[in-house]
Amino acid sequence: MMRVSRLYAPTLRETPAEAEIPSHQLMLRAGMIRKAAGGIYSYLPLALRILKKIEAIVREEMNEIDAQELLMPIIQPAEIWQETGRWDVYGDEMFRLCDRHKRNFCLGPTHEEMITTLVRGDVRSYRQLPLTLYQIQNKYRDEIRPRFGLMRGREFIMKDAYSFDRDEAGLTANYNKMYTAYTNVFTRCGLNFRPVEADSGAIGGSGSHEFMVIAESGEASIVYCPACDYGANVEKAELHTIVPQQEEMLPLDIIDTPKMKTIEAISAYLNIAPQKTIKAMAYQNENGLVIALVRGDHEVNEIKLINALGCIDLTLANEEAIAEAMQSAAGFIGPIGLQEVMIVADSTVMEMYNAVCGANLPDKHYIHVNPSRDFKPNKVIDIRLIQENDPCPHCGHPVKMARGIEVGQVFKLHTKYSQALQATYLDEKGKETPMVMGCYGIGVSRTMAAAIEQHNDEHGIIWPVPIAPYHTVIIPINSKDEAQMQLAETVCKALNQENVEAILDDRNERAGVKFKDADLIGYPLKIVIGPKTLQEQVFEVKVRRTGEVIFLSLENYVSEIQNLLKSL
Ligand code: ATP
Ligand code: MG
Repeated sequence: MMRVSRLYAPTLRETPAEAEIPSHQLMLRAGMIRKAAGGIYSYLPLALRILKKIEAIVREEMNEIDAQELLMPIIQPAEIWQETGRWDVYGDEMFRLCDRHKRNFCLGPTHEEMITTLVRGDVRSYRQLPLTLYQIQNKYRDEIRPRFGLMRGREFIMKDAYSFDRDEAGLTANYNKMYTAYTNVFTRCGLNFRPVEADSGAIGGSGSHEFMVIAESGEASIVYCPACDYGANVEKAELHTIVPQQEEMLPLDIIDTPKMKTIEAISAYLNIAPQKTIKAMAYQNENGLVIALVRGDHEVNEIKLINALGCIDLTLANEEAIAEAMQSAAGFIGPIGLQEVMIVADSTVMEMYNAVCGANLPDKHYIHVNPSRDFKPNKVIDIRLIQENDPCPHCGHPVKMARGIEVGQVFKLHTKYSQALQATYLDEKGKETPMVMGCYGIGVSRTMAAAIEQHNDEHGIIWPVPIAPYHTVIIPINSKDEAQMQLAETVCKALNQENVEAILDDRNERAGVKFKDADLIGYPLKIVIGPKTLQEQVFEVKVRRTGEVIFLSLENYVSEIQNLLKSL
């Protein structure tokens, strides 16, 4: 029987200053985690119990779709990463190490290379496919900004799965199974989440969803449609070109606009709406300068710009680079007359009439700019960020925005890795064919933190029953009272025997202290054993989530508690 007096869960009265969001604050305060270094934590016993429960749910759902568990090494040789070119691409986020023979290794940030080289050695025939493998293991990413406790760690627990199929149809079937399994996992963990379409980056093509837990502290922005089930990461959301009412094109003119460097300033100065201006953003990538044009009230979607340019790197250009390439100052950049600079325009810009834009001369703007007449961009595509109330790309209804925590992602890899690593099989006709792959991740430790972000109040955590560290704590009001203690032990034993996980708060503390700690840790139920229990043979059960108090008789209480837990 677990007794709180023996439990290694050192609770804190004060909120540690370094913790900014509820999950980080509460896990520290409830004695669940302790920091070893930035983004690197020990999981104390309560946290480990929660993690094991999330893992058990993940395992059940993975096994349900015939995924098989394996365990690959964390330490990975550089060679396999060199084969795909990712040894260089992964950059500073990869933890690298060297052995005594000066051979290079990394701590696995992900396992595509590892699993593909494993499978290519053993799978030869179409008869061995489809095959889905998964593992639950620590991952290592030297994040630029590890923060928010377990939310963005440098060492964290991930479930990663990989599917191998004969063809695209097989991949789609596996992808859909995984999507359903993920939906089940997060539903069973008691989370309010949305699967959203996600950017599939340089791999291109359709086929990635992120599972987003809706929470204020989420680092991702998502859009969703209240009318249909469309949802997307803002980076991915498709947009329709806005076509304004046609106007007569006025002759291009240049005017003085002293110090009018921002869209707000120029719109106020000319007394026009920001929609009538063109915003020119100067970026730098490995091939030089890029000017991105969006309407004044829009923002550039940098992910879409990166995808359109097919570049690796993209940063805002600095003043010197701008001055050197364009004899202009930041704030007065414009596309007209620009030469030898890549210009990418959002498609909405090309539909504008009589707009205002920088003239590439200090303190000057063009007015009556008609893009279709006055300049020719190198590329015209959708590069603006979606905004609240933009029409839903599926049904046209105004979309809403929310913040999300990415707890999982599913991804069609197609043959990206199997081609790079020559993971082929012989099809029915004996033809060598690359396997068609998918990869699928769940942030197990992040899911624990995300659950707290959604389930807490001013007193502490409120665990959803399926992932709670214990279902109930048993609190004898007076631990020095032997009769109370004995009864408490009996109840605790009886419950544990019937798989209700109960922990006994046997500490010699005031009842108030025990209640406070129980609320902080977030057990779904508190069972209170006091003098009345002995006199009247009833005890009190308090529901953490609702504050509701239920009285149960000392007979038959086990099934009542089981039912109560099911109803929460
Ligand atoms: P992010 O965009 O948040 O950095 P990612 O897209 O790089 O995450 P994936 O490669 O898709 O992450 O990893 C699968 C899952 O692992 C993510 O959905 C997330 O839940 C989790 N995860 C990724 N990075 C971290 C981290 N630094 N700390 C905790 N969990 C993480
Ligand atoms: Mg991801």
